Amino acid sequence: MSQSEPMRTSIAVVGGGPVGLGLMVTLGKAGIPCVLLERSRELSAVPKGQNLTARSLEHFYFWDCADELRAARLLPADLPIGGITAYESLASQYWYAPAGREAVADFFYQRHERLPQYLTEAVLRNRIGTLDSAVTMFGWSATEISQDDHGVRVTAQADSGEDRRVIDAEYVVGCDGARSTVREQADITCSGADFDQRMVLAVFRSADLQARLERFPARTTYRVLHPELQGYWLFFGRVDASETWFFHAPVPKDATSENLDVPALIERAAGFSLACDFQHLGFWDLRVDIADTYRQGRVFIAGDAAHSHPPYGAYGLNTGLEDAVNLGWKLAAVLEGWAGPLLLDSYTDERRPIVVETGQAITDGIERDRVFLARYSPRRDRSEFERAWGGLSAGDTAPASYEPHYEGSPVVWGPAGSACGVHGRHMFAARAGHHLAPALLSGGSNIFEELGRAHTLVVFTEDHQPVRQFRDAARALGIPLRVLADTSDSARAAYGSDYILVRPDQYIAWTGDQLPADVAALLRKAVGSAHGDNS
Ligand SMILES: Cc1cc2nc3c(=O)[nH]c(=O)nc-3n(C[C@H](O)[C@H](O)[C@H](O)COP(=O)(O)OP(=O)(O)OC[C@H]3O[C@@H](n4cnc5c(N)ncnc54)[C@H](O)[C@@H]3O)c2cc1C
Repeated sequence: MSQSEPMRTSIAVVGGGPVGLGLMVTLGKAGIPCVLLERSRELSAVPKGQNLTARSLEHFYFWDCADELRAARLLPADLPIGGITAYESLASQYWYAPAGREAVADFFYQRHERLPQYLTEAVLRNRIGTLDSAVTMFGWSATEISQDDHGVRVTAQADSGEDRRVIDAEYVVGCDGARSTVREQADITCSGADFDQRMVLAVFRSADLQARLERFPARTTYRVLHPELQGYWLFFGRVDASETWFFHAPVPKDATSENLDVPALIERAAGFSLACDFQHLGFWDLRVDIADTYRQGRVFIAGDAAHSHPPYGAYGLNTGLEDAVNLGWKLAAVLEGWAGPLLLDSYTDERRPIVVETGQAITDGIERDRVFLARYSPRRDRSEFERAWGGLSAGDTAPASYEPHYEGSPVVWGPAGSACGVHGRHMFAARAGHHLAPALLSGGSNIFEELGRAHTLVVFTEDHQPVRQFRDAARALGIPLRVLADTSDSARAAYGSDYILVRPDQYIAWTGDQLPADVAALLRKAVGSAHGDNS
């Protein structure tokens, strides 16, 4: 092929951070031709984006690289992942260890994990290398994106500055980070919360810090709430077992590495003097910025290109990986020809409300801490402060009440009048629009080991007639369907339904104890071929 001839593919992915890489694996595993353009050849050495949720590890399980990811971990396997919250400094007598993500561990098939984002990216880059339909172009930047009714055209520039390539695709997905070129060229606007805070990020080694933190239960992160910082955190995170730390804190808008005394800032947060050997110093802007839509015709955006919010609570990367999985199966379904036009629109319908409410939960948390720190002080009234601090620690149960779901999705048979969002309770019961909880089946395997790329109808009844009806309807519509019939009483009792239709992203499209009168209508709605009445 001559260089001037356009490359042809089905999906062009711009940006090979974790989200673009995750999308490439999802598409590549489905055998969809896809091309990744990533500006950087090398991985960044900054250990941000470390906390991966149990849900994200489920993605790695289905991407066939969960073991590789766990093997890349730098911290000891038995070190509990979780945080300490302290008042004013790490030397404070006021601190607590909130229930972390282990509080919801039973509702997921995998355990959560912690490792620097560059190692996560390395695992994904390796996995893509094994997928025949996935082509990577590292060292290439997308410069122009255009679309018409028939496809998209992406123009790419090599980092050498000389070579240019044109890629023609059916769809393009911008996973190109907060300053997304794809988003900008598709004229997708953003709305944000009314704050914009400059942050410093330092990576350093310190044996002193390691030693002084031994007074706490073993944890991976340490958050300091200081009355002067208005709810923003001074934050320390462990990077590896050899005393490497990363630290972030709010700083004045005009702070630079020349005018900011970072060792003094760290000592203030620690509450004691400590020797630090700095490896990296950088700045970033903490903001909430959410794209008004995640789709413009044949152009989609995902990850930080679609949403930026503070890393408080570690939602950014995890949310982006869920975007990749949600969009990935839908793009594959459309390209394979068994989905309707509403399925691709449902990507924005499902994912955007989750991100809006996640951003709101983060800013509400900052506001709550700000109000607390202004209202209570051990210097003004010690006993009042101690009572309130006890209440703060008891109320710090964020992971338990954060339950992203798609109840109101146009491709889910959720309760009438419901909406997609993050407020809910994790349950074993199977509910339309919610993540499927794991369960052991009668043969001893976990249900997650039986799920695949197709929709799966889980059946806990001996009556074969309805299953035949389902199969026939799926076959007539050309929808791939796996039937998983099981006799486990405990799984049936936990799920509370005889029939569960599970999507390729392990969310539940429909549940019931009997089939609806029109099974074809149920399936058409689940794959975005028709609207359906949820009532
Ligand atoms: C201090 C800090 C701590 C964090 N901690 C956590 C955490 O614990 N958990 C969590 O979930 N999240 C965390 N995050 C957030 C997380 O790092 C981001 O959400 C994540 O990087 C988003 O991934 P992405 O792939 O969408 O974007 P990015 O990681 O920004 O990747 C975008 C990629 O696109 C490439 N690119 C850009 N433009 C072009 C172009 N025109 N052509 C080709 N390539 C292009 C870039 O080179 C880059 O590789 C943290 C963030 C910070 C700053």
